[in-house]
Amino acid sequence: MTMRTYSRADLVGPLPGLHFIDGRWVGSGDGRTFETIDPSTEAVLASVARGGVREMDVAVNAAHREQHGDWRNFSPAQRGQLIFKLADLIEAEAERFALFETLDVGKPVKESLGDLRGVCATLRYNAGAADKMEGSTIPLGRDFVDFTMLEPVGVTAHIVPWNYPLGMVARSVAPALAAGCTVVIKPAEQSPLTALAFAELCQRAGFPDGVVNVVAGFGEDAGAALVSHPLVRGITFTGSVETGRKIYSGAAQGLKPVVLELGGKNPMIVMEDADLERAAFDALDGAFGNSGQVCSSSSRLLLHRSIQEEFLARLAERAAKLTVGKGLDNCDLGPLVSSEQYAKVRSYIDAGGKSGAKLRLGGGRPRGLDVGYFVEPTIFEGVDPTSALAREEIFGPVAVALSFGTDAEALAIANGLGFGLVAGVYSRDISRALTFARDLEAGSVWINGWFIGGVQAPTGGIKESGVGRERGLPGIRNYLNIKNIGIRL
Ligand code: ADP
Repeated sequence: MTMRTYSRADLVGPLPGLHFIDGRWVGSGDGRTFETIDPSTEAVLASVARGGVREMDVAVNAAHREQHGDWRNFSPAQRGQLIFKLADLIEAEAERFALFETLDVGKPVKESLGDLRGVCATLRYNAGAADKMEGSTIPLGRDFVDFTMLEPVGVTAHIVPWNYPLGMVARSVAPALAAGCTVVIKPAEQSPLTALAFAELCQRAGFPDGVVNVVAGFGEDAGAALVSHPLVRGITFTGSVETGRKIYSGAAQGLKPVVLELGGKNPMIVMEDADLERAAFDALDGAFGNSGQVCSSSSRLLLHRSIQEEFLARLAERAAKLTVGKGLDNCDLGPLVSSEQYAKVRSYIDAGGKSGAKLRLGGGRPRGLDVGYFVEPTIFEGVDPTSALAREEIFGPVAVALSFGTDAEALAIANGLGFGLVAGVYSRDISRALTFARDLEAGSVWINGWFIGGVQAPTGGIKESGVGRERGLPGIRNYLNIKNIGIRL
């Protein structure tokens, strides 16, 4: 099937370039701006206001005022209706949002449109759940009535990465709004456009001004100012382990609860009794989807020695056919998001070549693409489990294959890192697969499938992959405090 291609002329309306605070587009007080780059061309895409302490203070104060103002009077069902309306508005403008996303981060338009469907599903799940979050009654005995009430935690901070810019906004903002919180969003400096456009649609959907605020800017100034603001009562962050540590320390100073979804180096374990066709098909998307810039990618392929060659042959055959190009051209893979990310992925590939691992596929720039942060789909095999390729998150289209002989060996390699986000196992023996599921150290374990789940299923990491869970009903509980009411009769 040939996919439709797009051009800048398909964009409707201007690119957003200002903060959206308290229902208004505003610049930074000091007039500072930064440039967001189109990673397909390395050219400047837009100039965007660069927020800092002052802009964050205005945004958080607006959110705080509204937390104790009009917004408090919306019933949970009314909040749900607004979120449903927001989903409808975004759906109606899915193409505009998808083009923003594609220009900002490089992903193919078909992927951006898929992300937008996910955003709408996330909004609708949380909209429907808004009036179903119930407290409980506690049996203290005949002389007492004791029950719990759920209350919004207050102003919440949402610090978002660039790999799924609007998807990550929706994942934490939808449950926060369903719970009755107000929000301040700090999109990643690489990808501010869709978050800004989203804020305006919140206003159109009928959210009172000040409930949803977006301040664009960099982590060290805008992000840090948001984390440390005394009126912020909860923080949700998705990003790197290193930044997660900083945010956790900052939150500790203010004793603020956090939800952190950090990195992963997720083992996909393929046993000798697996459906190899299924596993290779899943590994293609697992390793190369979104150009590998996915926390839950299948970033370590652990292959039983006896099927290693057959599996890699199937994977390499498919991967060699993947097309790479500009997001607007709707190829299978777009560029990496930034020059920093490109340099990082290149350095892993170059070091991998020297580490003794065998390069099975790719490793260079795709032919004909001399500009833009493009990397060929790359497969390394025979990777030493102690090497950087096998231990560190690459966040690029680089599949890393290791081999094992026994179940115990596979488990030891899988659990041998600090990460614990996702793990998966492929086997036709369900008892064997469930034994792995029990023993794997990860927040999610997938059996005979990859990227299983959606807005309904809780996700998150253990160990250095994070704190707390998002999605599902646990995702909404992050934004609710439990108040206990005790009555003596
Ligand atoms: P990456 O290194 O892949 O860009 P980060 O984890 O550094 O990922 O960034 C994810 C998000 O965290 C971005 O919105 C970024 O601006 C923000 N961020 C980075 N550093 C800080 C910080 N010190 N405090 C708050 N937010 C930060």
